[in-house]
Amino acid sequence: MKSSFKIFSISGIPVELHISFLLLMVIIFALAFFGVFTYYVAFLIVLLFFTVVIHEFSHSYVAKRYGVPVERIILLPIGGVSAMGEIPKYPSQELKIAISGPLTNIVIAFLCLIGLLINGGIQSLSWTSFFISNTPTADLNLFLSNFLGINLVLGVFNLLPAFPMDGGRVLRAFLAERMSYVKATKTAASIGKQFAILLVILGIFFNFFLILIAIFIYIGAEQEYNAIMVSSALEGLFVKDIMTRNVDTLTPDIPVADALSTMFRQRHMGYPVMERNHIVGIITFEDISRIPEDNRNIQIKEIMSKNIISAAPNEPVFESFEKISRNNIGRLPVIENNELVGIISKTDVMKALKMLDAKSK
Ligand SMILES: [Zn+2]
Repeated sequence: MKSSFKIFSISGIPVELHISFLLLMVIIFALAFFGVFTYYVAFLIVLLFFTVVIHEFSHSYVAKRYGVPVERIILLPIGGVSAMGEIPKYPSQELKIAISGPLTNIVIAFLCLIGLLINGGIQSLSWTSFFISNTPTADLNLFLSNFLGINLVLGVFNLLPAFPMDGGRVLRAFLAERMSYVKATKTAASIGKQFAILLVILGIFFNFFLILIAIFIYIGAEQEYNAIMVSSALEGLFVKDIMTRNVDTLTPDIPVADALSTMFRQRHMGYPVMERNHIVGIITFEDISRIPEDNRNIQIKEIMSKNIISAAPNEPVFESFEKISRNNIGRLPVIENNELVGIISKTDVMKALKMLDAKSK
């Protein structure tokens, strides 16, 4: 299932809204509609949205300056995730990219503070004014203190030394200058997990919301750790080393029922669909199983996916593996000079990982 969807793109980077953020906005607006919250609170949620966008663009801006491509930005209520195409070359770059987001929030918070000072609203500043309060009337000082609060919370919170918070990346970059990247990630991830456990304990006593964040952090640390382990294990391995060369293919005009029996006979879960030596689509067992039995006389070109995500023979296996996982697909056709030269599947990568693991023991 897709957990986020594209809302717009700025300077070529697609910005995706995570479903949890959308739900939060819908709930707050619904509650405002029924009078549980004022519309000012709903406005603050929109403000949070813009603050997260600003936060993420700070990361992207710095990343772009270092030539690190940002593939997409996912907006979450507690910040966001900038999915970068590759790991920054130097730890010092990663550090600057990671810290730019929280730093921007802290600068905005500081500007709000100055605004409050100028507008004589500094007296109204209290701990409670940092948080979203259900007040019927809104004035500039209230707005400034709420905006200050949002930015301060986002800024400080993201500096927590736990993946996938920016602080986790800062910590890894700091460690990576002193040890190997893998070891630095390992250490940073385990610190992140310990942090998550601490948050659960705090959550039990203080605020249930912290437990949700802890789960998010734990999963993030685990993912980051796994990704780095896989990428370091697969280092130096290219698609051409492990791809299957003699690819079984299908033609677009055969009926779905025939494709299904071919699948059973040859035991492949997916096939490139070829027309006059050119790949025109991919058909998988999943695509076919969605078609009701009495409708399986239609041709496979009607149901195949035409959006072909492919790999190149000289591509590092890890990159292909990322494409496979990110798009939640089973296999990539390997294409060289417009010609199909092989196929690489998730199973191929898993097998390679197992063999590398056995070799290293
Ligand atoms: Zn960030």
